[in-house]
Amino acid sequence: MTNHAGFAAEDAAAAAAAAVTPPSQAAAAAAAQAGKHFSTCKKAAAAGNMDLAGAGVTIPGFLLDSMRASSPRHAKLAAGADIDDWLEKHPSALAWFESVAAAANGKEIVVFLDYDGTLSPIVTDPDRAFMTDDMREAVRGVAKHFPTAIVSGRSIDKVFNFVKLEELYYAGSHGMDIKGPTAAASEYHNMKKGGAAVTRQPALEFLPVIEEVYQSLTAKMASIKGALVENNKFCLSVHFRCVDESEWGVLDAGVRAVIEGYPDLRLSKGRKVLEIRPVLDWDKGHALQFLLKSLGYEGRNDVFPIYIGDDRTDEDAFKVLRNMGQGIGILVTKFPKETTASYTLREPSEVKEFLRKLVKSKSNGTKG
Ligand SMILES: [Mg+2]
Repeated sequence: MTNHAGFAAEDAAAAAAAAVTPPSQAAAAAAAQAGKHFSTCKKAAAAGNMDLAGAGVTIPGFLLDSMRASSPRHAKLAAGADIDDWLEKHPSALAWFESVAAAANGKEIVVFLDYDGTLSPIVTDPDRAFMTDDMREAVRGVAKHFPTAIVSGRSIDKVFNFVKLEELYYAGSHGMDIKGPTAAASEYHNMKKGGAAVTRQPALEFLPVIEEVYQSLTAKMASIKGALVENNKFCLSVHFRCVDESEWGVLDAGVRAVIEGYPDLRLSKGRKVLEIRPVLDWDKGHALQFLLKSLGYEGRNDVFPIYIGDDRTDEDAFKVLRNMGQGIGILVTKFPKETTASYTLREPSEVKEFLRKLVKSKSNGTKG
């Protein structure tokens, strides 16, 4: 089952948000993006004749509008839009770190981290979204002081192969596959008491259908240059970062044609990726709640969860925190976007800096 109404609404929000980017910032980002796109997608596109301007290409449907709206090179300054207002509502978690630390003071911090675009840069080939050794050390440092979980759309196996830290909790497949730390729990601060294994797989019954749709989508996308279908175990991703803009409409129609026959699946859009997931009342927000409960924090008011992510799927977790009235959500973005997050960071390097400061503040006496 598709959810086009929701999709369109999200895209409208993204368009409005992208429109408040200052012209100079948008121009610089557009140049950088175009250069990056050219250098990184040339091989994948093979033909090497991509129309980056996309001028004159008219494709019906929500996907093209959505992509244009969320692309920096299409950003325009809307009349009346005020970036200062947006920054006031979603200030930098680095610039306002002392406020964050003060809010967390005396409470037990729990850290939740998205992977792609948060710990690693967004790259052309999703199999090469490596995190730096520096970032790994920063995450390792945080996990020594606070219970820490990776919450990703990737399968657990894939995201673990990138992160390679056994002391963390992992929630893969958008939270539909959760596992506790494999390292000895007693070595790490505040890990689940008693060391019992934490596992949760609410979409287990969907495994056969996901595999079936993966095969169909792979066959369907084979003719679209640059398209890549990724099997995330309990969900699928169709990456179109390297697909020529003129092919987006074909890709969109192809994906929808495949999942039309599966009313138990739904379609949503991330950063240059289409996500196919089971229709299930379970998302990154549920994963966050499940992990807090597993850690023994349910109903306690002395816990301070910090969730950092860059994608629309992370908004489910931001909303949970907002509703709890505890902790903070931090959106990683260089551009103003509609978000429920309280704070922002511009890119993974700022996430790394924030994590280091968090450890430092702990060492300086903040209870964790
Ligand atoms: Mg992400």
